[in-house]
Amino acid sequence: MADDEKGFDSKIKGMYSGCGCGCQTGFVEKSESDLKQVKCRSCGKIFKTNRDTDLCIICEKKHR
Ligand SMILES: [Zn+2]
Repeated sequence: MADDEKGFDSKIKGMYSGCGCGCQTGFVEKSESDLKQVKCRSCGKIFKTNRDTDLCIICEKKHR
């Protein structure tokens, strides 16, 4: 079946993209480094966010 062949092909490609050379780990590290530590200007709580805000989630809800 053609579907079977496609599945096998994508399996092989998946093996090559996840080759263990660190590319997957690098991707995870990159997404984590987007998080920055911010001190909430309202309650002073230190929190991590990847958004451009200086209000923690709780205070952000209060202010809305
Ligand atoms: Zn806060």
